[in-house]
Amino acid sequence: MFLPITEKEMRSLGWERPDVILVSGDAYIDSPFSGTAVIGKYLMSKGFKVAVIPQPETGGGKDICRFGEPALFWGVSAGCVDSLVANYTASGKPRRSCDFTPGGVNGRRPDRASIVYTGLIRRFYKNTVPIVLGGIEASLRRIAHYDFKTDKIRRSLLFDAKADIISYGMGEASVLELARALKEGRDWRDIRGICFVSGRKPDGAVELPSYEEAAADKAAFARMFKIFYDNSDPVSGVRLAQKTGDRYLVQNEPPLITEKLLDEINELDYEREAHPLSGGEVRAAETVRFSMASHRGCFGSCSFCAITVHQGRAVVSRSEASLLREAAALTGKKNFRGIITDVGGPTANMYKMGCEKMSKYGACRHKRCLYPKPCPSLNVSHEPLIRLLEKISSLKGVRKVFAASGVRPDIAAADAEHGGAYIEALARRHVSGQLKLAPESADKRTLAQMKKPGTESFKDFIRVYGEASRRAGKNQFITCYFMAAHPGCGMAGMERTRDFVKKYLSFSPEQVQIFTPTPSTWSSCVYYTGFGEDGEPVFSVKDTAEKIRQKAVLIPEKAKAGGAGRGRRK
Ligand code: SF4
Repeated sequence: MFLPITEKEMRSLGWERPDVILVSGDAYIDSPFSGTAVIGKYLMSKGFKVAVIPQPETGGGKDICRFGEPALFWGVSAGCVDSLVANYTASGKPRRSCDFTPGGVNGRRPDRASIVYTGLIRRFYKNTVPIVLGGIEASLRRIAHYDFKTDKIRRSLLFDAKADIISYGMGEASVLELARALKEGRDWRDIRGICFVSGRKPDGAVELPSYEEAAADKAAFARMFKIFYDNSDPVSGVRLAQKTGDRYLVQNEPPLITEKLLDEINELDYEREAHPLSGGEVRAAETVRFSMASHRGCFGSCSFCAITVHQGRAVVSRSEASLLREAAALTGKKNFRGIITDVGGPTANMYKMGCEKMSKYGACRHKRCLYPKPCPSLNVSHEPLIRLLEKISSLKGVRKVFAASGVRPDIAAADAEHGGAYIEALARRHVSGQLKLAPESADKRTLAQMKKPGTESFKDFIRVYGEASRRAGKNQFITCYFMAAHPGCGMAGMERTRDFVKKYLSFSPEQVQIFTPTPSTWSSCVYYTGFGEDGEPVFSVKDTAEKIRQKAVLIPEKAKAGGAGRGRRK
């Protein structure tokens, strides 16, 4: 069943009024890969009435007033990605297409959608029930943050959007708790995973440098970000407070996500389609229609990635039994042709991995799990993943099971016992012709800033995978993702990467993205402050034409199409 998106649909369910209205910058896809669907369906399964307003028209009240006011709260999200990332390319040009918009033409999601949607609600319902911001835009802009569009530090989105609460990170448990507290008239200020504004610093909260200090002084911003980052672990993270003007932004401890919760939310009955009244084909629905999420979180902690502060560094995996039940249910879906297009998470090969210390006391603050080498305490066994893929493959009605998420070669190399068998299984059965790898760079200095491993495990992986593919009699391709203009990377770094590609890869890279300093990543902090994580000076290319020239080193034709100028060595 779809959640209602029209008043008629709501009435047909016998509801007078929803408890919760979710407003989103994306079309409504009823899938476990859509935050709106997951939150809505999860609340529904607990007895709440939830309606959705996807991509509301912002010029008037026609859409936003469709259901009237909810009984408990509004949930507002910009969608699956930050609205400025969704609306602009890394070189600042407006994006023409959008996979989350019916018909594929971008233009339905306003810039800073969380602020615009909240303003729209307040325009028609001034003193309404609480407005709760969620999704990646709110999560990564929850404290003072670098805003790449204005090249400035902005205060928490909560102040600018005039909302009441941010549900950050993975919000299922927090939002359910909040709905129950609001229904029962209880205080909600101690719920994990939320931010709110307070007139005083709560007792025991760790105080961050204030917004004003962070905005005026780059060293204070770097200090603030380090404390914030270190406290994103659900086990060891504490309550934080940041003074902003004469009030405090309070961030409660990160939400706790368990195997049981992940199993439950992924096994809800999703339609796995865009809502039939969406008004056009929604491409993103196709991508995830027959995909399954095996885990959340990533202990890779690449500097340019925000997963650590959004999903957490500890990997939480689903049970094998739950994944098998979900796969069996997929075989009964309309249009299922026997192919499960992905079983994975942020990284393909982290299922059931982790370390005891991380689960008992939280991830180490003074070192990374995979950089510069995989930590010896890390359990990197691929055995549970190999077994899972085999078991799903042997289900009646399943012909193929693919791993479409990015694979980490360094983890496969670290697993002396099962790493080889994993690569063999991938090559033989679990790649649909294109394997995804993300070396990002082959330049040592850049890799050190990205906190990515060197190229050795990558080279080994390509060789072993190639041999396994030949043994399997398959001609398979590898898609490699590279990044240009990351902090610490100049033209010489890109040329070293190009030379590596020429020497070791028998193909040209197709996927080269220009680094975007999105909110709340270490790389963005380095880009803005000019200091690395250890306080060392790090240069970053700021000039757009220069960034495009870096990209052109790897893919001249594509970069030219994007407006690359003539090359210049740095
Ligand atoms: S002990 Fe190693 S694997 Fe565990 S959290 Fe620390 S760095 Fe990561």
